[in-house]
Amino acid sequence: MEKILCQAFFVCLTRLLKICYTAYMDKMPTVVAISSPLGTGGIAVVRISGFKTLRVLDKLIISKPCPMEWETRRLYNVRMRTHGFEESGMCAYFKCPHSYTGEDMAEIYVHGSMAIAEGIVRAAIAAGAIHAGRGEFTMRAYLNGKMDLTQAEGVSDLINSETDAQIRAAQSLVSGDLFKEISDIQDNIRKILARIEASIDYPEENLEEVTSGETKNVILELKSRLRKLISTFNTGYLIRAGVKVAIIGKPNAGKSTLFNALLGYDRAIVNERAGTTRDTIEDSYVYSGIKFTLIDTAGLREAADEIEAEGVRRSADAAQKADLTVEVADAATLKSQLSANGGIKVLNKCDLLPKEKLRLRNKFDLLISAKTGQGINPLKNLIYKKTVTTEKIPAVMLTNTRQYSAALAAHKALEQAFTALDTTLDCVSIELLSAYKVLGQITGKVATDDVIKQIFEDFCVGK
Ligand code: GDP
Repeated sequence: MEKILCQAFFVCLTRLLKICYTAYMDKMPTVVAISSPLGTGGIAVVRISGFKTLRVLDKLIISKPCPMEWETRRLYNVRMRTHGFEESGMCAYFKCPHSYTGEDMAEIYVHGSMAIAEGIVRAAIAAGAIHAGRGEFTMRAYLNGKMDLTQAEGVSDLINSETDAQIRAAQSLVSGDLFKEISDIQDNIRKILARIEASIDYPEENLEEVTSGETKNVILELKSRLRKLISTFNTGYLIRAGVKVAIIGKPNAGKSTLFNALLGYDRAIVNERAGTTRDTIEDSYVYSGIKFTLIDTAGLREAADEIEAEGVRRSADAAQKADLTVEVADAATLKSQLSANGGIKVLNKCDLLPKEKLRLRNKFDLLISAKTGQGINPLKNLIYKKTVTTEKIPAVMLTNTRQYSAALAAHKALEQAFTALDTTLDCVSIELLSAYKVLGQITGKVATDDVIKQIFEDFCVGK
């Protein structure tokens, strides 16, 4: 009887495991995509991830590795067969969980033609894989606990980085600096919550007064840590998104010439006829590791026609949205009516004026000549100093609005917990729990499906 029961138990268990396995397989099918940039290159990389990786490799590769078993993290010289052609390349296999996604994974390196890479992808799909969606490999890494949301965002930032500062900020996210800071704050909240629970559960021990004092100190310390983190957002955001600088001023003041001089090449058309720049033009340069996006505007003036009016409207709009404006006045006409905004004011075409006249123009931040290059480097330096206000770029930073708004909400909850210290420990514990949960949104421990979907939609396919 006992033996029959045992057998029945094992049959049920096997069936249950099979159901779970099939359900997981359906939810997490094996995916394939080209991971290198689309176009011709030296090498193209095709990535495969999921349960069926080895099965897909077995069907795709005709020169099987010898011995037949794939060793993890080893590079094999392989020959592959697709429907249309055979191709030689290299293949690396990563056994789960020691892979980027935390699943069984393979990377195939072939000659960098899109036709070859696409042929390999088609063959992998015929062998049982499906095409990966945007950011699917990184999303799987997140879902399998290989990284948190801040690290996943760091991966996306790293791929899109164009400057040294962007690389460093993204690398700090990827290495988990922000994750560690947030987790540490959460740990402190958890510990103090446990103490509060104990003093509520055992009133006879008279712990309330001691706990209240300790909680006060911890909340004060955590508030200050969060405030410090929140204060990094301006710099973090500027580094990640770049600084937007609009060049404004009257037509013919030399805005387009200055735009070109700052960029270091002739991007905009320069002409002595007023109204040459009819729309806003954007381009970027890098200074001290920071990306500055310049916007050359049509010039603020009375418009002669509808198209020009639209250009002027866009100029005003660009000036408003920019982080900083550089207002250009013309030294030749000496009619410099400056606006009252807080941007940088430069007097251009100084090469046309004698030195003694130039000294009189002290309402300007700089005297420049966009044509000869005089004052261009000091102007770049001034733009940098006015926008990147922190002397030293912090090691741990909030770099996007999602992290920033959650940190603000957590700080607010801590403030409310502090105020609640005047009432009961129960109320304090509710607010602390709320701070704990909001912080979890940053790392993704309590992120909703919508948030996760939105983050990975910003990725490219193959990452
Ligand atoms: P915008 O309408 O403000 O964009 O002005 P542009 O950049 O098109 O320049 C108008 C005219 O001023 C062109 O003929 C330029 O060559 C000239 N110009 C611009 N900057 C300077 C400068 O620093 N010195 C001199 N001498 N001429 C300049």
